[in-house]
This record gives sequence, C-alpha cells and structure tokens, in this order.
Amino acid sequence: MPLSDYQADMEGCSRCSSCKWVPYNQIKSWRFAKNCPSICRYNIHAYSGSGKMIMGLSMLSGRSNLNDGIAEIIYRCQLCGACDAACKVYRDDIDLTEVLLELRSHCVEQGFLILEHMATIDALKKEDNMLGEPKDKRGEWAWGLPVKDINKESAEVLFHAGCRYSYDQDLRDTVRGALMLLLEAGLDVGIAGAEESCCGGRAYELGYRGEAENYADDMLSRVKASQAKMLVTPCADGYAHFRYLYPRMGRELPVEVLHISQVIERLIESGNLKFRKSFPLLLTYHDPCHLGRMGEPYLGEWKESKLDRPMSLKRSGRKGIYESPRNVLRAIPGAKLVEMERIREYSWCCGAGGGVLEAYPDFALWAAKERIEEAQSTGAEALISACPWCERVFSDAAREMNARIEILDIVDVALICVGVKEIAEII
Ligand code: SF4
Ligand code: SF4
Repeated sequence: MPLSDYQADMEGCSRCSSCKWVPYNQIKSWRFAKNCPSICRYNIHAYSGSGKMIMGLSMLSGRSNLNDGIAEIIYRCQLCGACDAACKVYRDDIDLTEVLLELRSHCVEQGFLILEHMATIDALKKEDNMLGEPKDKRGEWAWGLPVKDINKESAEVLFHAGCRYSYDQDLRDTVRGALMLLLEAGLDVGIAGAEESCCGGRAYELGYRGEAENYADDMLSRVKASQAKMLVTPCADGYAHFRYLYPRMGRELPVEVLHISQVIERLIESGNLKFRKSFPLLLTYHDPCHLGRMGEPYLGEWKESKLDRPMSLKRSGRKGIYESPRNVLRAIPGAKLVEMERIREYSWCCGAGGGVLEAYPDFALWAAKERIEEAQSTGAEALISACPWCERVFSDAAREMNARIEILDIVDVALICVGVKEIAEII
C-alpha cells in the first residue's frame, strides 16, 4: 500500500507521546517505564513512533523530502511494535507499525538504502539466507539426527529451522535440541535441509517487498509439496511472518503453524514429554517481540473508518503467544518464575530486530543490555527467551557486561528437564 493510504493514521497522531512509555497504569518503576529503544537511545522526538509519523506526513504533503538523514532515523528502529501497542491502549484509529513498515518500503522505492541492508539483501538473493552463508550447508545443523528429508518423503510435521538457527554455531545445540524434543515425543518430523530458504520476513521489514513475496511463494510451494499437517519453528521471527505477514500478502500456509514453545506445552499436557529432572533456578522470561505482540495472527483488513473497527480486528498485541512459554517454565520441577516489569505486549525489545543488528550492532547491544539489567533487577539467575535473535544479542551483551546471569532458550531448559542434556552441558 502507498504511504498515502496511511494519511489518516499519520494525521490522527495527537503528539501525546504515549507511544514512548509503557501504558501508565502498567508502570511499576520509573527505571523501567519507557518502552521504545529508539527514543530512549537518541532522545529526539523524530526517533519515536510519533516522530516517524510526523516525518511521513511531512513528506507526503510535500513539506519535506526524503534524505539520507531521515532514512537513517527510519531504520534506527527495531520495528518492535512497542509504540503501536502503547498507542492502541489510547487510540483505535492508528496502525503505527504499518506506517513504520510503509516508510521503509518508501525508502527502498526512492533509492535511500542502508549499505549494510543492501549487503544483507544481496547475500539473501545469492544464498537464500540472511547471514550470507552457503546455501548447500543449510541442513548441516541436523547432521546425524533421525529426521526425514521432506524432499524425498512426506512427514506429518515440517520443522523450519530459520536462517539464524541454521548457521549460528553457538545456537546449534539449541536447534538440534528442539528437533530432538519432537523426535523424543514420537512425532513424524521432516526438514527441508539445504532446500530450506529464508521466510522472507526480514526482507519485508527492511522494505524489500518483492523479495519477501518471492520467499513466501517459495515457502508456500514447499509446504504444499511436503503434505505436512503442521509447521513447527523455533524462530519467533519466522513464526510471526508465517502467521501474520503471509496471510496478509495472500499466501496463507495450508497447515497449522506453531512455535516450538506451543508444541512443548502441548506435549507436556498430553504426557508425551515428561519433565523428570529439576532445574532449581530463579528464572525470568523475555517475551520476544515476534512471538508476543508481533506474533498475533492475521485477522483480516478493515476497509471502513478505523474508529468503527471491532476490537477483534485491532492489532493490539494482546493476542500474541504469552502463556505457552510461561506454562512450560512453570512445569519445570524446582524452578521459580519471576516476572520483569515490562512484559507481554509491553515488553522491552531485545534490540536485534528490524535490521538493527545488521546495520547498527552497537544500538542492538545497548538495547539488549537494558533488558539484561531489567532481568537482573528481579534477582533471576537465568534469562530465558524463545527466539534465536534474542539469544544471540543477549549472549553478546551479557558477555560484554560480565553479567552474572545465564542466557538460555526455553528449548535448552526443556532438554535438561527431559534428561536429554545435563545442566553442566548447557550452562
Ligand atoms: S502515535 Fe499514538 S501514542 Fe504516539 S503521540 Fe501519536 S497518538 Fe500519541
Ligand atoms: S517500533 Fe520499537 S523501536 Fe521503533 S519506534 Fe516503535 S517502539 Fe521505538
């Protein structure tokens, strides 16, 4: 959609600045009251959700022109959706995230490109992954595991590892562990191996919509050919794009799409996965943006005035996945879950999203350190997440901080509790 389709959203902004804060009735302390990494770090209104809308309106009405400086402000943003979730508490008629996405598409159309993102997109086109790693090595993470190759035989469950899990050596045990949990529970699982491609969601977020559509088409045909009934991914980004972006682009996958935390929850409930071993630590859980507020399923478009839009079609962030990971953590013998101040749809971003990790890694680390400080303020001994991008940036930030807190994925903890791994192997 062109930027002009969001004119009413941009004109509707009342400059109240609520998009910079956790909604006021949810604030527990001033230390952790802010929600937007971009405005927190740069402290100029233009960097906030509202500021970007004002810039968009100014360009649309011809009062200013896009330039490199404006493009940089637009991209120094994790696209975490926190501004949108806060604005929606007070306003029904503004879809802030959609405006931010549209501004990026506008930057690409007008040729205002970020060098690091151009390199990422070039690598994506060449090797079909966000990390620019060789395509023919994509399936190596699963080496030696008794999993089906969906290019040769059908399987009930298609496991989609995603780009980061396919290549990040530090996270290899986690993605192998996620697959092992499914196999341990007796599920009939297949992977696409070297034929798996990027979901295309990050390309969409960077403003490269044609590439995103190509990867969605590719994924759709692979899923159809696999005859799988369920798609499971341990990547929160992929999950959000399959559930929201794909149907919005008219490419809904004809299978049930689940994040690994939902599957683990189901397997515990059905008794097919048993937590036998204890994990006696105080845990806190970080809601990945793409599993939480950005992980809401697509519910359809509303063509009339947004003031008349029913609550069920409003993308408020409340319909994301919040309980499944927490239920898994609550099922751990000996563990205790303590919550941070900014949680669920008002969670602080890990810092890695929206192309920030690729273009502005210092900013990503800064945001991750802020979250680790929040986790440490609870007294937690381990910060648990459910996304490889969170895991990557939290681990790097914790190392720089010499932080005395374990950084783990929910899969790591589950592996210990079912007895596949020993605590000493993980931490
Ligand atoms: S985007 Fe929403 S919350 Fe932010 S200033 Fe505008 S109306 Fe207020
Ligand atoms: S998407 Fe996140 S980083 Fe970007 S303006 Fe909104 S709250 Fe700030």
